[in-house]
Amino acid sequence: MTPAGEMPLGMLPFGETPFAACDDCGARRDAIGDVNAVPNHATCVACGGLLAIVPQRPGCTGRELADSLDTAAARAAGGVWRFGALVHPSRTPVSWPEGDTPLVTSPALSAFAGLDNLSLKHEGMNPTGSFKDRGMTVAITDAVARRARGSVRAVACASTGNTAASLAAYAARAGLPALVFVPAGNVASGKLAQATAYGARTLLVRADFDACLALAREASHSLGVYLANSVNPWRLEGQKTIAWELLAQRDWRAPDWIALPGGALGNTSAFGKALSEARALGLIDRVPRLLVVQAAGAAPFAAAFANGFRERVTVRAETVATAIRIGAPASWDRAVRAIRDTNGVVLAVDDAAILDAKAAVDAAGIGCEPASAASVAGVRAARARGLIAADDSVVAVLTGHLLKDPDTVMAYHAGGSARANAPIAIEPTIAAVDAILSSL
Ligand SMILES: [Zn+2]
Repeated sequence: MTPAGEMPLGMLPFGETPFAACDDCGARRDAIGDVNAVPNHATCVACGGLLAIVPQRPGCTGRELADSLDTAAARAAGGVWRFGALVHPSRTPVSWPEGDTPLVTSPALSAFAGLDNLSLKHEGMNPTGSFKDRGMTVAITDAVARRARGSVRAVACASTGNTAASLAAYAARAGLPALVFVPAGNVASGKLAQATAYGARTLLVRADFDACLALAREASHSLGVYLANSVNPWRLEGQKTIAWELLAQRDWRAPDWIALPGGALGNTSAFGKALSEARALGLIDRVPRLLVVQAAGAAPFAAAFANGFRERVTVRAETVATAIRIGAPASWDRAVRAIRDTNGVVLAVDDAAILDAKAAVDAAGIGCEPASAASVAGVRAARARGLIAADDSVVAVLTGHLLKDPDTVMAYHAGGSARANAPIAIEPTIAAVDAILSSL
């Protein structure tokens, strides 16, 4: 096993002012002042490639930077905006605030995973119940600035549900009209309820997520809507703060591994960028290995990893973990770079393993949505294969809240699974209660 932190990192530029650079053609634009810099479709106007934000270089050492992030003023800014100009230079963000999510441990879950000490970074504790709020606060802040210059009719996203819920909430906070494109019949009820309640115009598209994204992208090119999917570079800037925050919570001591679910791979890309930047800034002296976990029925990235990333794979996705039910990940090349830069690993776990891990997370009193549990199921599988040692330090990211998908919870517990805990109908008698107590 190669120790963490020994892999070479790619070149990592910082700018004197923030700018957006194209992954494919290298075109470089002022990310803030030029209305065409990050256009509504959020991709390069020259070649269509993905844009990346290059943050402003802080003029201090890593130790000084870490101290500056720990001041009362920085903490008061809130989890994402605590990191200030390393995320976005706005001084008037559209913010709840979000972030500041807990890093929790559970002896029962450590035992389930086969580890001495598993930590969980619970992103379900964000305002709309998922990590999407971290990127959305930054993207909507950018959209508001663009709308002031008259170039945004509405904000939009394609979504398996969590992005839709987050976009709807932040658009409502900003007073922006919002359109969400979701695959009809494949969105968890909690998420659909949120998008509807927050007032987004919710479009149930008779197609899968990948077709929804293609439609939203087309609308962003031709109809003046601002695309807030994870191809939007500002989304990734916000999502970087998951990694930075968990490192800060560990006093900038990098864990051996960070495990996260893989769907569109926006988070994988954001984590790769965050870890590379953290090392370049001197915040950490070694880079944790990423463990990206896909559902077996939606595992194009895991298949490509097993093949040395020789080709880009697409699949027809099918899994109970709807948040990662994605067959054509949009952030592919960046995610490949993130895996290479961190000496990372990609693996797939089946739906039964995901649901068993979810039941374990839930029964620990922590709770998460199915896709989140993929990270715990993946850690367990990696431990069983000897990829992770029992005494390795591991942080698994839980991406969404238990209440996002109540139907899957009830279906699991009504079935014959090992951890099933179906509600019990009783007569209103003390004898009936006593009988249940005796069976505990
Ligand atoms: Zn380009």
